[in-house]
Amino acid sequence: MKPKRPSIAVVGSINTDLVVEVARMPAPGETLRGRNVALYPGGKGANQAVAAARLGADVSLYGKVGDDPFGGRLIDGLRGSGVDVGDVEIEPETASGLASIWVGAKGDNAIVVSAGANGRVDTEYVERHLERITDADVLLLQLEVPIETVAFLLGALPPADPLVVLDPAPARDLSALPLSRIDVLTPNETELRVVGGEDDLEAGARRLLDAGIGDVVCTFGVEGAVWFAPGRTTVRFPAPKVDAVDTTAAGDAFNGALAWALHRRSLKEAIPFAVAAGALATTVPGAQPSLPSLEDVVSFLASSDNVEG
Ligand code: ADP
Repeated sequence: MKPKRPSIAVVGSINTDLVVEVARMPAPGETLRGRNVALYPGGKGANQAVAAARLGADVSLYGKVGDDPFGGRLIDGLRGSGVDVGDVEIEPETASGLASIWVGAKGDNAIVVSAGANGRVDTEYVERHLERITDADVLLLQLEVPIETVAFLLGALPPADPLVVLDPAPARDLSALPLSRIDVLTPNETELRVVGGEDDLEAGARRLLDAGIGDVVCTFGVEGAVWFAPGRTTVRFPAPKVDAVDTTAAGDAFNGALAWALHRRSLKEAIPFAVAAGALATTVPGAQPSLPSLEDVVSFLASSDNVEG
């Protein structure tokens, strides 16, 4: 008998990344000639939904796009990636989320992110979809939709199910959230410094655990991840060595894979899987194109002797 596919609900952002190459950054008031222009699907919610779908999970994404040409294109792209977008709504008279990115000749960049319809993912929307969201095995959240919505959703969930993974990005104060309803918090190093409120990362993580969060798993780029568990246990998971070409969406690959793996495995087993998925995502350019399939991760883990766990 085939094991049941994990069902994952993602409530989060859906963006377009508009990337323009420039010789240098324009000064205020200046008009510069741009070079290549490219449009990519993005947003942490959408990226993490695609990451989990590519691993074979049943993923439903909850969020909003605007009633502009970007919106339909984003929904079609997500559907094509196997994400259930039946509950994604088109917000009238609103623009879709847009990250406008200038990339300079030296790889330097300047980015303006407009939340657009992501900012309209409100408590009323979540309340309307609460029953389906609650039915999932795992709920995956980030902070690119209003934090009031995330707070409301966490407060409205039943006490134990679904399991909640929260990626606190972009980082902000979490004190408005019912922290005891977060099973796993997954900051990167910079985010942990902000959400933990301490320069010392371990002290920040312990403070979050004392405040009720179940476990803290901090990602450290090329160094892998560290699991801060209750009871003062700290476990390091080194990243396998890879030829990294683009680290965009490594964190999204990590979170999608962690949510997928937690359906049937303990954190101790799920973290090395997520670390491997993050590492693989750095070997392919782009965000969503770089997210690995289950076969990719399984064969990578089988061939890698650098991974613990
Ligand atoms: P974020 O993208 O959120 O800042 P990180 O950069 O910490 O997150 O990366 C997430 C995960 O991706 C890491 O825990 C690691 O497993 C993997 N990863 C990122 N960069 C590299 C790298 N250069 N080599 C190997 N693995 C990497």
